[in-house]
Amino acid sequence: MKVWLNGKLVEEENATVSVYDHGLLYGDGVFEGIRAYNGKVFLVREHVRRLFESAHAIRMKVPYTQAQVAEYIADTLRANKLKDAYIRVVCTRGYGFMGLDPDRCTHPTFFIITTSITLYPDEWYDHGMPIVTASTIRNHPDAMSPRIKSLNYLNNILAKIEAKDAGVIEAVMLNHVGNVAECTGDNIFIVAGGELITPPIASGILVGCTRNFVMGLARKARIPVREIDITRHDLYTADECFLTGTAAEVIPVCSVDKRLIGDGKPGPITKKLMAGFARAIGRSVRKA
Ligand code: PMP
Repeated sequence: MKVWLNGKLVEEENATVSVYDHGLLYGDGVFEGIRAYNGKVFLVREHVRRLFESAHAIRMKVPYTQAQVAEYIADTLRANKLKDAYIRVVCTRGYGFMGLDPDRCTHPTFFIITTSITLYPDEWYDHGMPIVTASTIRNHPDAMSPRIKSLNYLNNILAKIEAKDAGVIEAVMLNHVGNVAECTGDNIFIVAGGELITPPIASGILVGCTRNFVMGLARKARIPVREIDITRHDLYTADECFLTGTAAEVIPVCSVDKRLIGDGKPGPITKKLMAGFARAIGRSVRKA
């Protein structure tokens, strides 16, 4: 597989960065995860824009334009003859000897990896997946805004470890005031009283591209959408629950902390949105 690295397509075994790269030393950098379906990069403009916004927020300049980044993503897919893929775009502060000072790094490191993706097991798309709440709270937005998709994912990894310890693979993270924020790598939605509800941006979440897209699908289907605070109790007593993410797409949740959601099966609004999403990416609809 070829990797796009600092302006060149190189074989993956030659795609190496320095041990003095501040992305590695300090997590000083930003990234994106993007999907291509049948040769088309899904929501490419939204993802590339978010990459640039993340970089801007940490005072880092991506050394290309947004249009160039979109073009380099397409070049990498073409070089690897991939039509369906997971794409990882990474921009680090770059090489600079020890010390936090970002001014030690004169040039960012930029690379694009394309790979195939392993989704959650099919069975969970049909029957829903169990999740738990983690005791590790999501980063306080005033400390490290979850809106920045930074190379430091330790906050999420600690919650992921809790999920695995509990025998599941995804965990809900609460925010600093105890409301539901998001999962370790996915946004969260509930359905209650016929409305689609998701935590607002101000609750301290990554503003997911899939989240935004699914809210658009819901509005088109005339499902009322509200961005309001959700408590753990709201989650336990919801009629339906699902997660969204680039890798996960739209995945139903059957239980939270062993409380069944609704009747423990994917609900009608979840199924409708899953079908709408499948149509949008040109895939035949899952049975569910
Ligand atoms: N929240 C977090 C913490 C994430 O890492 C991700 C992406 N994996 C998401 C939400 C979903 O965002 P998107 O739909 O843009 O992939």
